[in-house]
Amino acid sequence: MVTKMSDVSLRLTLVGRTFSLTPLPRHLNAPCTADEECGCRATHRLLSRRTASVELLCDRHALAWSREQDSELPTEATGDA
Ligand SMILES: [Zn+2]
Repeated sequence: MVTKMSDVSLRLTLVGRTFSLTPLPRHLNAPCTADEECGCRATHRLLSRRTASVELLCDRHALAWSREQDSELPTEATGDA
């Protein structure tokens, strides 16, 4: 997957028990808060229900974060009685 920084096209939506990741409106101009050194434009909002905190993530960090969650999420609908 190729991510171009100049063209914001990533629209991820991930909702779990303790978090929700949703796309930010395109007109919103806020910096990524995932990493002090990132400085990219945020494209997604990450809400943590455990800590009631909100983080703003750029394309890169949203992707990286979603990959981390992927490996931890339980697989759904497999022999659920
Ligand atoms: Zn970032």
